[in-house]
Amino acid sequence: MKFLIVGAGFSGAVLARQLAEALDCRIEVWDEREHIAGNCHTERDAATGVMVHRYGPHIFNTDSTEVWDYVRRFGEFRPFTNRVKAVTARGVFSLPINLLTINQFFGKAMGPEEAREFLRSQGDASIGEPSNFEEQALKMMGRDIYETFFKGYTIKQWGCDPKELPASVLKRLPVRFNYDDNYYDKPHQGIPAEGYTALMQNMLDHPRIEVRLGRRFEPAQLGGLAGVFDQVVFTGPIDAFFGHSEGRLGYRTVSFERIDTDVEDFQGNAVINYPELSVPWTRIHEHKHFAPWERHERTAVFREYSTETGLEDAPYYPKRLAPDKAILKRYRAMAEEHRCSVVAGRPGVSFLGRLATYRYLDMAPAIGEALDFARRLIDGVRGGQPLPVFPNEET
Ligand code: UDP
Repeated sequence: MKFLIVGAGFSGAVLARQLAEALDCRIEVWDEREHIAGNCHTERDAATGVMVHRYGPHIFNTDSTEVWDYVRRFGEFRPFTNRVKAVTARGVFSLPINLLTINQFFGKAMGPEEAREFLRSQGDASIGEPSNFEEQALKMMGRDIYETFFKGYTIKQWGCDPKELPASVLKRLPVRFNYDDNYYDKPHQGIPAEGYTALMQNMLDHPRIEVRLGRRFEPAQLGGLAGVFDQVVFTGPIDAFFGHSEGRLGYRTVSFERIDTDVEDFQGNAVINYPELSVPWTRIHEHKHFAPWERHERTAVFREYSTETGLEDAPYYPKRLAPDKAILKRYRAMAEEHRCSVVAGRPGVSFLGRLATYRYLDMAPAIGEALDFARRLIDGVRGGQPLPVFPNEET
């Protein structure tokens, strides 16, 4: 059995590893970039020696023991706690919103219960079940906090009115009524000691796996791949797979601008957010602080900007607005139909991962899903059953 996995990010790498360990097979992993690890790619900065997360900060966090145990098979993780700060017109505050943020913002010294009551009084009680990001924020924390910390940032990040975004985007962030300023509330958190690329290199290091970099997959080639591969697993953007025939799915992309500096420590923290609309960037990251176990005399700092994805840009954040979901539905139907074409002498095709399923998936859930999907593929191959097309139900 011969597999082609398109994309060497976490989804592709985990799937390749699982198939290689379980089946008597050959696996090629193609990636159009010149490196593995997708948007998790890390590399040492030539000028400073700092390990840089080239496509933006990635902090591993999960409540899945299975996923946590799995990734640690391929590399050591060091503890890292993300303690984000926000620079606003009213001063610097702690994120996510916690008791320190609330007390400092309102000039008070409330305890947890008092603060909970206070924030409830600030919230808009007329909103029942919030139907979008803005309603969720106004209900939870009131206009003052929403406008200072979330409105501008969200307009910059997503390029649309927060009323158009689903409430689920805000639900990613907790509001805490204690002084816990850990950005994530998952029990397992950390960053690979040698970076994500080294970790994924170990994952892909298996005699049944061959990685081809700088190799672009053209769906039009699919017919020609019959006989070469039995099954293709595509982890790129699903709309690109179908040549955008039903339209383009909306994505935000991010770009980075290096700050020229000679200081040893530029901002004293890994991530500082800039929610003000008047500041064009969304955040500044200083990568040495993602590896506090290392020492460097110089520093590598980047401003992050968010823009609509142009034709040549890497897609990052799926927007999932209503028109996107309608387009997605059509592509999913086409993908299901494609399964039937296996008989017509083409390899079967499955879709896996954030871009291929068009969801806002963090690393750990993507890995969990790749592990599940690998089990289903392996069972399908062993049982001679039709192989699954998608890892998830349409959402
Ligand atoms: N957000 C915000 N202000 C902040 C941080 C986050 O308004 O200072 C909003 C923004 O809409 C963002 C969402 O909360 O897209 C989720 O934030 P998270 O930090 O999870 O985003 P990610 O790390 O995925 O970029």
